[in-house]
Amino acid sequence: MAAAVTAESFDADAVTDRSAFGPAVALSCRECGARTALAPDFACTACFGPLEVAYELPTGDPEALRARIEAGPTNIWRYAPLLPVSADVASRPNLNPGWTKLVKADNLARELGVTGGLYVKDDSGNPTHSFKDRVVAIAVEAARTFGFTTLSCSSTGNLAGAVGAAAARTGLRSCVFIPHDLEQGKVVMAAVYGGELVGIQGNYDDVNRFCSELIGDPVGEGWGFVNVNLRPYYGEGSKTLAYEICEQLGWRLPDQIVIPIASGSQLTKIDKGLKELIALGLVEDKPYKIFGAQAEGCSPVSVAFKAGHDVIRPQKPDTIAKSLAIGNPADGPYVLDICRRTGGAVEDVNDEQVVDAIKLLARTEGIFAETAGGVTVGVLQKLIKNGLLDPAAETVVLNTGDGLKTLDAVEPTTGLSATIRPTLDSFREAGLA
Ligand SMILES: *Cc1c(COP(=O)(O)O)cnc(C)c1O
Repeated sequence: MAAAVTAESFDADAVTDRSAFGPAVALSCRECGARTALAPDFACTACFGPLEVAYELPTGDPEALRARIEAGPTNIWRYAPLLPVSADVASRPNLNPGWTKLVKADNLARELGVTGGLYVKDDSGNPTHSFKDRVVAIAVEAARTFGFTTLSCSSTGNLAGAVGAAAARTGLRSCVFIPHDLEQGKVVMAAVYGGELVGIQGNYDDVNRFCSELIGDPVGEGWGFVNVNLRPYYGEGSKTLAYEICEQLGWRLPDQIVIPIASGSQLTKIDKGLKELIALGLVEDKPYKIFGAQAEGCSPVSVAFKAGHDVIRPQKPDTIAKSLAIGNPADGPYVLDICRRTGGAVEDVNDEQVVDAIKLLARTEGIFAETAGGVTVGVLQKLIKNGLLDPAAETVVLNTGDGLKTLDAVEPTTGLSATIRPTLDSFREAGLA
């Protein structure tokens, strides 16, 4: 690991190929602020706090920057000037995720009593049908720059597929690790791209611990773990959700955003992205509230929020929302801080409510969400009921994955309306005419 240095003594020239990281200038510790060179590091050597990417973002005329972004490709690379990637990133083989639909959800709004405008940011439209393609795309760029030859991760399912596909597209080897008992849709999605897929007898937290050991072992040499030693870069991909939501609203902030929580990385980086847009003058500054969504069977952040605690007590996950089943979320304390600071909240729903919410979104908007989307829409519904979310304010709710990957969740309560002989009489008898 590179030695931590103070902000004053930090020498940006120590980074060998600065242009490979665009406007990013260093890694900085979220706890003590110490800066270190851009490297495959994730923990501060001074205090063990998590590292994140620090920038010298383009100052100057916001109009010019806005025009430059609008003229860019219709994927996350339109925001290359705000990401730790080189300016020519779009010219290399990549899955080019992002620029997913922001759906004005008037039917769902009517059903839930939202009068201030309701939008679904539908990230199931990404190349491997979850928001994870965003984070992996940035991590892959870092992996290339650092010369890694194998792409790896610990995954609750979606990340495994996103890493497998990105490795296939970019010509890297992949070897990814998942809990052995994931949904069939997630396993098939991860395996089809041809990389190695290893099931671990344990839950996600066991898988993650295993990967940390692998990084310290000679076996893991040359391996880029997108959510471990490349985590600072990976996290930045989630900022693009904030950028897209605001640009798609016509370069303005929504009042409220409801975001699912697994490790909490996505939620914290969406907040980071919103703050950058304000600082750069790309959107007008106004207060916004961030809400976090968890499943009751894995609700360590929600429990801490409600109890008024600053620390997260780890849980053993037991929920159908497996993509969110992280019992010891790395970014949990930061999520608590953001939701409290912005005046939002963290809430959870049970598995039955998750299934109901998946069907509600499908029935009202024609969007088939995976269980994580059910958690988020279910929590939106609950937050309105208990008065924590203002139905008269403009609200964006995230759907982060595709329902085809978690068919098991809805299969028991869906099916044929009738089975008939191919005759009109038979159809009449069924009472559907
Ligand atoms: C990974 C994931 C999330 C959230 O991930 P964080 O670890 O909190 O960044 C949300 N939804 C889906 C479908 C996911 O796969």
